[in-house]
Amino acid sequence: METNTMIQKTEDYVLHTYNRYQIVFEKGEGVYLYDSEGKKYLDFAAGIGVNSLGYGNPKYKQALKDQIDSLTHISNLFYNEPLSCAAEKLVKATGLSKAFFTNSGTEAIEGALKAAKKYAYTKGRPEANTIIAMEHSFHGRSVGALSVTGNEPYRKPFIPLMPGAKFAEFNNFESVKALADENTCAIILETLQGEGGIYPADEAFIKDVRALCDEKDIVLIIDEVQCGMGRTGWFFAYQKYGIKPDIVTCAKALGCGVPVGAFVLNEKMASSTLVAGDHGSTYGGNPLVCRAVSTVFDLYEEENVIENVKTLTPVLEAALDSLVDKYDIVKGRRGMGFMQGLIIDPSVKVNDIILKALEEGLIVISAEGNVLRFLPPLIISKENIEEMLIKLSKALA
Ligand SMILES: *Cc1c(COP(=O)(O)O)cnc(C)c1O
Repeated sequence: METNTMIQKTEDYVLHTYNRYQIVFEKGEGVYLYDSEGKKYLDFAAGIGVNSLGYGNPKYKQALKDQIDSLTHISNLFYNEPLSCAAEKLVKATGLSKAFFTNSGTEAIEGALKAAKKYAYTKGRPEANTIIAMEHSFHGRSVGALSVTGNEPYRKPFIPLMPGAKFAEFNNFESVKALADENTCAIILETLQGEGGIYPADEAFIKDVRALCDEKDIVLIIDEVQCGMGRTGWFFAYQKYGIKPDIVTCAKALGCGVPVGAFVLNEKMASSTLVAGDHGSTYGGNPLVCRAVSTVFDLYEEENVIENVKTLTPVLEAALDSLVDKYDIVKGRRGMGFMQGLIIDPSVKVNDIILKALEEGLIVISAEGNVLRFLPPLIISKENIEEMLIKLSKALA
């Protein structure tokens, strides 16, 4: 099919909720994507932080093919081997106790919110239904997840949403403390805010919030849908701060390309919240996606994926910092590991830079607040970073 025909047909039949770039991708290999005209792109967006292993990993592909040959779906009324393996690996990586698999990050948030509400209910505090969330946060587009998303334009057309959500200032512990009372059920935050503009949590902030939750028996939900699964150089970014959430949510890179998310609970939550009949999902944790998850964990280990992030983070940071020094329109850099943002002067539209970069054969994306966002596959090399720097320099110039 002609490129223009594919684009037109999509616009004719798919609801227009995305302003898409005028490119049709056909295949991927390693850290490169190829469009319908055969043009090659270096991918520093990885499908919005999903394709951590890049494209076409032979072992990943073979595992999925094998699983398709044996079984893709049964139901959660029965057991399957990939589910047991995926859950064990995920629980061990989080340092928590029990996992529930979902089909997306949004649904992981929904489950976490329900678990927190059930905890207050079990504890004889059913009236405790306030959830403290952060400004600039992003947790998803469903009614529950949107209720705790700190982006007013996203929420406004859909109010009234879930009642009880209150917003505190990220990295301002006093603003969180001021909202916390006996009616607070949960505090939800991202360790490193993604969509909101790449804001890492301060160590003191996250530790103070953890202590406040312990003191007041508030459930701490940490959303690592974007910053988890090795992206920061830690399996989960909270591990860098030496704290543990009561519930962590995970998705994006969890299955490296199949639709899967999860929320993982600590022992306290697992033993006193959701029980049979409280929650469910027809697809959730089916053999196909769990085979992917299980394989992803194996490949992270075999291919030293997190080591690669740790080793190359200083190289990526230095490359991006050099752009801050060289171009007046690049005001600064924020981020952790392979989740980085360049702050662009408000006089220049980030989208114009993205379009120029695409012309140069480089994929980068944006985040709120005129930020150019970098979420490369976790398998990039030093040479890939150098190539990115050359292409992006041309786009900025
Ligand atoms: C992407 C994202 C979500 C939503 O995940 P979906 O898979 O799009 O539903 C939730 N939280 C964070 C931090 C995200 O980055």
